[in-house]
Amino acid sequence: MSSLVLVLNCGSSSIKFATVNPETAEMPFSGLVQCIASPDANIGWKLNGNKQKQQLPDINYHEALDFILTLLRDNKELFDQIIAVGHRVVHGGEKFTKSAVIDDEVLAAIRACQDLAPLHNPANIQGILAAQKMFPNLTQTAVFDTAFHQTMPKEAFLYALPYELYEKHQIRRYGFHGTSHLYVSRQAAKVLDIPYEEAAFVTAHLGNGCSACAILNGKSMDTSMGLTPLEGLVMGTRSGDIDPSIHAHLVDRLGYDIHKVTKMLNSESGLLGISGIDSDCRTLEDGALAGDERSILTMDIFCYRLVKYIAAYAAVLGRIDALIFTGGIGENSSFVRKIVLNRLKIFGFDLDTERNNASGKNSNQLITKDGSTKALVIPTNEELLIAQDAATLSQE
Ligand code: ADP
Repeated sequence: MSSLVLVLNCGSSSIKFATVNPETAEMPFSGLVQCIASPDANIGWKLNGNKQKQQLPDINYHEALDFILTLLRDNKELFDQIIAVGHRVVHGGEKFTKSAVIDDEVLAAIRACQDLAPLHNPANIQGILAAQKMFPNLTQTAVFDTAFHQTMPKEAFLYALPYELYEKHQIRRYGFHGTSHLYVSRQAAKVLDIPYEEAAFVTAHLGNGCSACAILNGKSMDTSMGLTPLEGLVMGTRSGDIDPSIHAHLVDRLGYDIHKVTKMLNSESGLLGISGIDSDCRTLEDGALAGDERSILTMDIFCYRLVKYIAAYAAVLGRIDALIFTGGIGENSSFVRKIVLNRLKIFGFDLDTERNNASGKNSNQLITKDGSTKALVIPTNEELLIAQDAATLSQE
């Protein structure tokens, strides 16, 4: 019998779950509850290769967790293989520089970070409490989205604001997607057969949320998300960087209140906002290829912002061993990768069309020509890294 880690990723209205073998990366059980607390709530899961779906109208958060844990309990063989539980926790503030075994003190510290991630940390805490109840004898580990970025120097993480806002209120850049940036950069070092501790990478995690990261000698040196996951790149529904005065302008001139501005920047902007069509990159790519002008403009803005960040991070690092694409868009969109790499020729990238179209699958992940600066497509696997950390910490 193999050892499995239960990995829980509790979002504000969704719960992603999996049982992961930390050595082989196998996931005999995995799934997603979506649209929690709405009439559309539903669960989809895969158990030993068999897919199932069920509508769970208006299920609340607690009931959704219960539903997942009951599915597990009802499968004794699977249940008995679980040796540890790993939780994705969005915000670890300055307190957590790496994953931590959850005890009362750690739980209190996660609660203390709630102000910095009001949408996410409360959901993470609910997941932890439910799993503690179900598995009272197993080690529970928190793996933080922010932890990897805690190596950023002050010049990168401080905003040019009155210093006491940092000292008294912890207002600074934290960055997110840390587990993904760490996982794919480590994988890239393996693929390239170079020591991770001596490598210079720029990583682009492009999913519904998007962020870039500059990594030198195994350490995050800068990243595009900030105090919250709103800053930086253009995302599915998030604006990324804007002039901060737009807030006041919208309030003073258009009569918005600050909550309406925040909602607009988080849920109605990005790919969705510019295109007026969809937040899904696939729809916009299809539109752009069919000549739809707004789709073309949207994808151009998305790629242009990304190019600016990659170029800035290459300069920050001083050299670049590889640019890494990951996330749903990064892993699948040869369209985006082509536009981006063609605009980055100054750094020596020379796109190989065939390799790019195959997403690097037949060329050891490489999508640029031999002899040019390397760009790689590396599928992310945050669940695996969470499972590995949880398994390791449970054995200490
Ligand atoms: P999340 O950030 O929620 O984990 P994903 O990493 O799954 O999201 O990324 C979702 C994004 O990936 C969506 O914009 C989707 O359009 C895009 N995507 C998925 N498959 C493709 C594809 N084949 N081509 C282009 N974009 C894709």
